[in-house]
Amino acid sequence: MTAPLLQANRVSIAYPTRDGLLTAVEDISFSLTAGERLVLIGPSGSGKSTLLRAIGGFLSPTAGDILIDGSAITRPGPDRMTVFQEFDQLLPWYSVLGNVRYALRRGKHLSDDESGRVARNWLVRVGLGKFLDAYPHTLSGGMKQRVAIARAFALQPRLLLMDEPFAALDALTRRHMQDELLSLCEEAGSTVVFVTHGIDEAIVVGTRVLALTPHPGRLAASFSVTSKSRVRGSPDFVGLEREIQHTILSPAEAFA
Ligand code: ADP
Ligand code: MG
Repeated sequence: MTAPLLQANRVSIAYPTRDGLLTAVEDISFSLTAGERLVLIGPSGSGKSTLLRAIGGFLSPTAGDILIDGSAITRPGPDRMTVFQEFDQLLPWYSVLGNVRYALRRGKHLSDDESGRVARNWLVRVGLGKFLDAYPHTLSGGMKQRVAIARAFALQPRLLLMDEPFAALDALTRRHMQDELLSLCEEAGSTVVFVTHGIDEAIVVGTRVLALTPHPGRLAASFSVTSKSRVRGSPDFVGLEREIQHTILSPAEAFA
């Protein structure tokens, strides 16, 4: 059996508030082996971003622990790269190429030549070969997200973390980007934790989908996605879509 790359053991996460502790994530366990793409799906407020931030090392669980390669996560590290929903993840004073090169020089200590070569390669792969010298403010939202994705892949982290990276895009662009991300991940054999509230997106991107309950987020159900069910509109896709929908749209009391 392959050892898990990521393991969450009975993780609960609470925020201190003026009215005491607010539990955002409650008693969640899962594990992830290399090459898997885990999607966390749930309604707004179900603790998806909180759990992802804890995997990123930006906050600590109040109970339980999260391990990467067997070691507890205590802080952010170059073994994990996060792509966020917001379009302002790029440095505005660097070009498209400059943004990815900068990350490679800082994160991987590559030489000028090497960082240029690697950055160009990934930017071409996300379809930005003609925009290497463009500045972020001249790009559409989809193009900015492509830069952020190219940058994350270029750094080749053990784990790619994505928090609704396509949520602010128009529906057509979103669909293109889902397909592109899927090919990149399959080619690179990436291990991913992807957060979304879109059921179709979850099925297209993931190999496994964990549905969270409404606030506080607990595990409601787990679904495996086969390559057959990943084909949009196919009977398997529609069937799985219904199953997930049923779980997510059940009243909160069903989980109490
Ligand atoms: P999701 O990403 O699924 O929409 P979040 O993880 O953002 O959910 O939030 C889960 C719960 O935790 C929500 O009730 C939210 O209000 C609360 N929460 C999130 N961030 C903070 C914070 N920094 N301080 C206090 N409460 C927070
Ligand atoms: Mg969120």
